Amino acid sequence: MSAAPIKLTILGSGTSMGVPSLACHCRVCTSKDPHDNRLRPSLLLSRNGQNVVIDTTPDSANKLSASTSIASTPSSNPRSRDHILGFDDIRPFNIRQKFRAPGLQQRETFRIIRRAFAYVFDDHPHAKHGPQR
Ligand SMILES: [Zn+2]
Repeated sequence: MSAAPIKLTILGSGTSMGVPSLACHCRVCTSKDPHDNRLRPSLLLSRNGQNVVIDTTPDSANKLSASTSIASTPSSNPRSRDHILGFDDIRPFNIRQKFRAPGLQQRETFRIIRRAFAYVFDDHPHAKHGPQR
């Protein structure tokens, strides 16, 4: 018996600011070609009704339609938080479906998420950590 294949959906493939970027007048940002419009990077893995989103950007949350576990990658840029800023936007899934979304991120990434969204963790903070680098 083989497992169902995992469906991978690219929710965004742009830069940390997305493309087009505000106030940028470069050739790509002003392009009329829809292929040049790329949201902030994020992936959705789905199988048998279970979903895992890798990085919750401000763009990706409105593309999700069901309870979703969250995996957050470490930021490659310490001044960028685009990969977690949509974290709060998926809370309606948890509230309406009474689903407590599991999260997987490295300790430092979880520390950043917990600080940025402290009100989410006020009741019962819980995290699973990946290995430290
Ligand atoms: Zn540009």
